[in-house]
Amino acid sequence: MTTGINDELLQYAESLGYGDVHMKIDAATGLRAIIAIHSTKRGPALGGCRFIEYPTTRDALRDALRLGWGMSYKAAMANLPLGGGKAVLLKTPQITDREAHFGAFGRFVNEMSGRYITAMDSGTEVSDMDVIARYTPYVASTSRNSGDPGPSTALGVLRGIFATVKFKMQRDNLEGLHVAIQGVGHVGYSLAQRLHNLGVRLSICDRNTEAAKICEKEFGAKIVSLDEIFKLDCDIFAPCAYGGIINDETIPTIKAKIIAGSANNQLAELRHGEALRKRDILYAPDYVINAGGLIEAYALYQGLSMAEAELQISHIYDTLLLIFDRAAREGKPTSQVADTIASERL
Ligand code: NAD
Repeated sequence: MTTGINDELLQYAESLGYGDVHMKIDAATGLRAIIAIHSTKRGPALGGCRFIEYPTTRDALRDALRLGWGMSYKAAMANLPLGGGKAVLLKTPQITDREAHFGAFGRFVNEMSGRYITAMDSGTEVSDMDVIARYTPYVASTSRNSGDPGPSTALGVLRGIFATVKFKMQRDNLEGLHVAIQGVGHVGYSLAQRLHNLGVRLSICDRNTEAAKICEKEFGAKIVSLDEIFKLDCDIFAPCAYGGIINDETIPTIKAKIIAGSANNQLAELRHGEALRKRDILYAPDYVINAGGLIEAYALYQGLSMAEAELQISHIYDTLLLIFDRAAREGKPTSQVADTIASERL
């Protein structure tokens, strides 16, 4: 066992149960890529490639490690025959030819011989996946498939909301409920549309005022400020923007009795799951409720139809009810029960 500050990343990787981590540098195209394969025990590691700027390589590596680990848990909870992994591509001004850059990444993915399957993530487009597909068969979310996974993720969140409402309110419909959505981007917009069609009253916020205005116009959603969204007297709070929003500051202000949204890593720390339980707020664990995009990507990658993918996504409802029942029986936070079930499956 190594010790000392310089080994912090290795210790972090060990604590997450890694796995292997690969790095590729290609000076000709500016590619600097990390593929973090957390686990292949249940099957190949499917996880998107993120193409964003990082302050340091250390931050990028840490992000890849955390995200790859999260994908293992997500796949296990969705009962998919997949492991977990993620790729991080460092975005730098040296990358001038996007096509050549993603071509080089495609060759890197191919070198993993199918242990890692890549897909879209923050900063990548369907067209990038199409470039990758010229060099490797191990890529999902190409234009041959459906592309943007946002609508399928939103469908999974909707099924998850039905499960929370069933458990908490013994109701089978959402009509007349009030849902507050934080962030109306790819997932949040599609969720707002689906909820509106079911007679739900919406309050929304987004840093991007244009995105918020579209929802106001199309769905009659009420726009509130970025701070106000936490404190609304609503039935359900749906975080669909960014992580870490459930924390010491926000928990005492939340009035909703249910938290169910797509954002990754919603709990700032594990202990916040218990803080929610104590306040009798039902929390739908993020990696369970937001697995719709992954389920779709894998189903279409296997050649299944969109209808078959949607049927698989609908099982998020049953998985969540299972977690809620067990959490209530054992007097534990739903987040902890999800972690226990996922780690048993890994
Ligand atoms: P997106 O970038 O399309 O949308 C996010 C939206 O949140 C944007 O409109 C942005 O302006 C807004 N936003 C940013 N900061 C905000 C703030 N402080 N307050 C309010 N709004 C803010 O992203 P997305 O694809 O819709 O994903 C949303 C979340 O769901 C992310 O956490 C993502 O990791 C997670 N997720 C997405 C998918 C998917 O299929 N896209 C799958 C699983 C998980």
